[in-house]
Amino acid sequence: MAATRRIVVVGAGGAGLAAALEAGRAGAEVILLETAEQVGGATARAGGVVYAADTPVQKARGVEDSVDELINYYMTVSRHELEPRLLRASAEGTREVIGWLEELGITWEPDRLYIAGLEYKPRGHLPTGDTRGLGPAGGAMIVAALLTAVEGRDNVEIRTGTRCTGLLTGDDGAVTGVRTESGEEIAADAVILTTGGFGAAPDLLGEHWPEAVEHGDWHWYLGPDTNIGDGVRMGLAVGGELRGYGGTLLETPNFGRLNDAFTPPWVIYVNKNGHRFVDETDTYCVMPHVIAKQPGGTCWAVFDEAALRQVADSGHVDPYGLGVDLESNWTAAMLRKQIEAGVVKSGATLAELGERTGITAAGLEATAEHWNADVARGHDTAFEKKGTLAPVSTAPFYAVELRPAIIGITFAGLRIDDEARVLDTAGRPIPGLFAGGEVAGGLDADVYAGGGTSIGNALVFGRTAARSATAGAVQ
Ligand SMILES: Cc1cc2nc3c(=O)[nH]c(=O)nc-3n(C[C@H](O)[C@H](O)[C@H](O)COP(=O)(O)OP(=O)(O)OC[C@H]3O[C@@H](n4cnc5c(N)ncnc54)[C@H](O)[C@@H]3O)c2cc1C
Repeated sequence: MAATRRIVVVGAGGAGLAAALEAGRAGAEVILLETAEQVGGATARAGGVVYAADTPVQKARGVEDSVDELINYYMTVSRHELEPRLLRASAEGTREVIGWLEELGITWEPDRLYIAGLEYKPRGHLPTGDTRGLGPAGGAMIVAALLTAVEGRDNVEIRTGTRCTGLLTGDDGAVTGVRTESGEEIAADAVILTTGGFGAAPDLLGEHWPEAVEHGDWHWYLGPDTNIGDGVRMGLAVGGELRGYGGTLLETPNFGRLNDAFTPPWVIYVNKNGHRFVDETDTYCVMPHVIAKQPGGTCWAVFDEAALRQVADSGHVDPYGLGVDLESNWTAAMLRKQIEAGVVKSGATLAELGERTGITAAGLEATAEHWNADVARGHDTAFEKKGTLAPVSTAPFYAVELRPAIIGITFAGLRIDDEARVLDTAGRPIPGLFAGGEVAGGLDADVYAGGGTSIGNALVFGRTAARSATAGAVQ
């Protein structure tokens, strides 16, 4: 009888918990290391959307879809800059993940399926379940379901407050264990890196995604401050290679460290020339790119006193209209405070607002005139904005600069294959080393093709890494 394999999993977010659960189910002795005092990582803070095609949930809603259609769409918007084998593994894996999570206690209501990217088919699966107090929304429900399953196993040990800082290797270059920050060495038959992205690591951001540092202290990261790229650094140190570039940025008025990217519908965006350039309700998958292309790489959200008067004091938004309750900075109290502080500029006329912001006054006046006529006829003839059309006609007028600055997801990561094996610079697997989730690259290219792909990838490649790492284990 073969000896029980020992697997060390580094990082207890979605990918790490999925890997630990599957490795435990395969009979391995699993040690799951987490640097933070609590498990969950960025996954626990997330909305929890999982992007998947050809699922029973879609079928229940009457949506005809297929894995091939998802792959086609994804390759097209990513301009074929992805590795097809990874994408196929992801698309087939996310289809399975929906049922797998259901067995762990997550419910997917067909009515809450929504269009999460630039495609025309609803593939965004929003979970329902218990968060166990691990976070605000669906991501915490997924973490809670995984954690409950992992806690039910006596062959998986979770060590929180334990940062892994290095990989041990044998003479042949194979990974044989890990070293923790306290100097402890833990031997393992295989190591799975699931340390998430590096949104909290300015040095790696500067190197692999300069746009995420160009607006100075406007930038901040939505994920945990423990996501500093340790896994990437450890993988590179043993011969791994990086794949991918960029990530997701969200526009912000920089009111404070609260996700205020869900800009309300009663503003219009104008660039420095005073021109509108987009349907302001467009998806966050593309908005930061469109703003970055404007002169100076920024824009202004413009509104009037009538709009300000109807802003609620309560600071919550439901960005998808699906009962997701997120705290918001776009409240009357916050706006009044920012007007007083001069962050939100005001003017008795549009010309005066132009002077105070640097927006070309003639452009702003012409835009407002055209916009107000469109509002009166109930149709945005320029950009086909959906939903509420609020005029900009009641003085005083207001404008606040928006920059694409909030960091959501980082795309660069260790190159892996479809078995989640970490590859060296020659494209060969590094023996004993596996990776899954945001620490791995090659699954996103510049444009974020659909909300929900990151958690989906984390769960799929966490599970795959466990299968590969435990291959040959006693069942
Ligand atoms: C606010 C927010 C909302 C989001 N919404 C969505 C969404 O709805 N759908 C979607 O698909 N994606 C979403 N994303 C992105 C998605 O959540 C992440 O890409 C994904 O969950 C990453 O999972 P992961 O397991 O790879 O990393 P994480 O969940 O970040 O877990 C990594 C873990 O590793 C730990 N760690 C790091 N270094 C070490 C070390 N050296 N030793 C030990 N432990 C370490 C970290 O503390 C962390 O707990 C969102 C992200 C954020 C921040």
